[in-house]
Amino acid sequence: MRGRSDCRHRGRVAQALVLALGLLAMQPAHAAERLTIIHVNDWDDMTAAPRIAAAVARERARAASMGSATLVTFGGDMLSPSMLSAIDEGAHMIVLADAIGFDVGVTGNHEFDFGTDVLEERLAESSMIWLAGNVTRQGRPLSGTQPVAILERGNLAVGVLGLVTESTAWISDPGDDVSITSFLATGTELAGTLEADGANIVIALTHLAIADDHALLSASDAIDIVLGGHDHLLVAHWDGNQAMLQSGSQGQHVAVADLVVEEDGVIRFEDIRLVATKGAGNDPKVASMVKGFEGELGAFLDQVIGHTTTALDTRRVHVRSRETAFGNLLTDAMRRATGSDVALHNGGGIRGDTRYPPGTAVTREMVLRELPFRNRAVVLGLSGRTLMRVLEHAVSAIDEGSGQFLQVSGLSFAYDPSQPAGSRVVSVDVGGRALDPQARYTVATTDFLADGGDGYRAFKTAEVIIGAADGRLLANLLADDIAATGTISVIRGNRIRRLDGTPQ
Ligand SMILES: [Zn+2]
Repeated sequence: MRGRSDCRHRGRVAQALVLALGLLAMQPAHAAERLTIIHVNDWDDMTAAPRIAAAVARERARAASMGSATLVTFGGDMLSPSMLSAIDEGAHMIVLADAIGFDVGVTGNHEFDFGTDVLEERLAESSMIWLAGNVTRQGRPLSGTQPVAILERGNLAVGVLGLVTESTAWISDPGDDVSITSFLATGTELAGTLEADGANIVIALTHLAIADDHALLSASDAIDIVLGGHDHLLVAHWDGNQAMLQSGSQGQHVAVADLVVEEDGVIRFEDIRLVATKGAGNDPKVASMVKGFEGELGAFLDQVIGHTTTALDTRRVHVRSRETAFGNLLTDAMRRATGSDVALHNGGGIRGDTRYPPGTAVTREMVLRELPFRNRAVVLGLSGRTLMRVLEHAVSAIDEGSGQFLQVSGLSFAYDPSQPAGSRVVSVDVGGRALDPQARYTVATTDFLADGGDGYRAFKTAEVIIGAADGRLLANLLADDIAATGTISVIRGNRIRRLDGTPQ
């Protein structure tokens, strides 16, 4: 292992000094060493595993053919929120990750979704090294994690530190005995330690907002590369000194860096790129494992989770034009699960086009048929004025069967369709009180609408309290809500009133 000052690019000045003093001959001679890093982050969809495995294998083979060692890394968020994780708390993802062959990963916020006891169980089942440098439980690193690792690759000592977003405390469920310290203070300190311990390369494996990644790179000269996650961005960036990679989400890409550590310790990136996995084919062994898990999932989806004592209507024309019992069931569940003042769901996102009579046995498969888009529940902060604009938009194309009509919970409103679009909403009550244009309301909705889908531009500029990457899968949220009581007895009420006398 090399000493600190002779091996690092920021040691150039020191090196020049050493040269000037004629001491270089005392340093051991080293040949240039090659390393290829293959990075994936934010992957919870098991169906992507075969093509990730194939893409990683292809990059490994390419690296080997040019004499490069490899390091395969994971940037956090795999245990949740998939459909199957609702049964096995992410166990299948640990199996698939091992089959792909990750060397080292960082825990993301979603790793804490089932609580820290479950996370520690999952980590015990995993063969890869897990890092969580700024997370402690009762003062110690989580069982199955370590703050840093130094991996030997060829003649290189590759130092890796792991950092988790501090927001995990409120967007997930780590529990009261878990503390998450400042990524910046901890990251800077751990990078210094790795450098002092002789790492030839220092990698920060992070599950942080990208602004935090930039702050970390600026704050710590010791860090050579940030391998990120959490924002689902495609990033391949090198400023001549430090590099940053992030591979999007769901294994659609892998991020790859080919680098050389020169004899003088300087790190030179030969190539840094995002490789689409689409053309990589499927690893047959991993594909057959996924098939087995899909069988388990199928049996799970067919289980009865409850019965409805009232009729549920998801017919297209109804969910797009009036209050429905199903819309009430769904938005009530969204509001309960997120603790928001209001919940809103577009009629166009409810797809079953069916009427379920009282007595119907409800399965997860039925929930998935109604909500097939894998939308996630997000929470926004909206002013009363903006909420008003949102409701106006909901009824602006009321007689055109448009999917933008909203099913609602936590508020009631009346509208007059004979008025021009944009001035139809006559009155709005939130929580039983008249809407206050100046007040701030918390609003649960879908990631689709929050991103401006169905024309909801007003959502795009709203304050984000729980973002898409952190939200629960809506289908799981509703199914869990139904399963919690086993009985559905939701009826149409007086939440949405049309004032022109058209029967509803
Ligand atoms: Zn995340």
